[in-house]
Amino acid sequence: MIYFDNSATTVVDDSVLETYNKVCKSYPGNSNSLHRLGIKSKELEDYSTSNIAKYLGVKSSEVIYTSGATESNNTVLKGVAFKYRNRGNRIITSHLEHSSIIETCKYLEKNGFVIDYVNVNSDGTIDLENLKSLMSDNTILVSIAAVDSELGVKQDIKSISKIVREYPKCYFHVDATQAIGKIKVDFNDIDFMSMSMHKIFGMKGIGLLIKKENIVIDNLIHGGKSSTVYRGGTPALPLIVSSMKALELIMPNIDKNYKYVEELNKKILSCLKEYDKVHINSTDRSIPYIINFSILGIKPETFIHAMEEEDIYISTKSACSTGDSSDSVYAIYKDMDISTHSIRISLSYKNTMDEVNTFINIFDKVYNKLMFKN
Ligand code: PMP
Repeated sequence: MIYFDNSATTVVDDSVLETYNKVCKSYPGNSNSLHRLGIKSKELEDYSTSNIAKYLGVKSSEVIYTSGATESNNTVLKGVAFKYRNRGNRIITSHLEHSSIIETCKYLEKNGFVIDYVNVNSDGTIDLENLKSLMSDNTILVSIAAVDSELGVKQDIKSISKIVREYPKCYFHVDATQAIGKIKVDFNDIDFMSMSMHKIFGMKGIGLLIKKENIVIDNLIHGGKSSTVYRGGTPALPLIVSSMKALELIMPNIDKNYKYVEELNKKILSCLKEYDKVHINSTDRSIPYIINFSILGIKPETFIHAMEEEDIYISTKSACSTGDSSDSVYAIYKDMDISTHSIRISLSYKNTMDEVNTFINIFDKVYNKLMFKN
């Protein structure tokens, strides 16, 4: 199997799974119980939270556990919107965002909020002048992904933050789901940050929302005290500890892994560029982990299934997006043919050059078979 769909999810690391299993068996207590088993679990939870915070460069008190980035995104968008509707009713986001942002914005729109979509430049970066012109005293939140899931464009978070900081009543949320473990993200520039652990070889079912400790938002989930007051429910200790493990494995190696994946990326890109009907959608601002391209003349589903027959797994746009056309690709190229044919390869540091070479050979075979079948 060649797995090139790591932005959809990763295969859990053995040591992460082992950690999960051990905690399930050895720490049965609810960390909120007063007895010995509860205290033992609470100690491990606090230790894990402080390490998670350290890896992310944030405070323990800023970590909120969720079920994944979808919940983190819902929590911050709805939590800010409903808490601060007296301040204003405008939210700024972009067409590069994940469906968990876009769909939540549509829901908020039905509830009286106005969503402004900031323009993107031809390299996929946010148009900062347009952002400045959209900002107003009624804007309560700006939500932009550090790296989007389809094209992998890395945004200039510092510059966006500077613009948002001109408006003290407006918060800045960064969806860092595709960035964490791949590039460094500085939480100092940000008020809220979302992520999912299964994107970095962690377990499915846990994500984080990092929230500046002095900001109060409305709860999405009400219930008893969990790890924080922001999300009720028994703390998922095995998932929490396994998240610490996943971060421990990846965070110290960001630069090394980036350089390695860059080599894999270069090889694939140089091969794809040889084909007349291939349009490379990733830009020079895309991180090497994501390669987005369109094969004009072959339906992306047909191509993906033909590759699957060869035990190679790639993706048509993001696994969670809806509709045939990619809004992210369209936002940059304004071309329906390109945006309805987009395909995504997403790499990880665990992929090898051997896999890349096999991919290149099979790609050629499948491309020629489907392109020239008549
Ligand atoms: N944001 C981005 C940028 C993503 O790539 C994803 C996952 N595709 C999510 C949010 C949602 O993550 P999850 O499915 O783990 O909730």
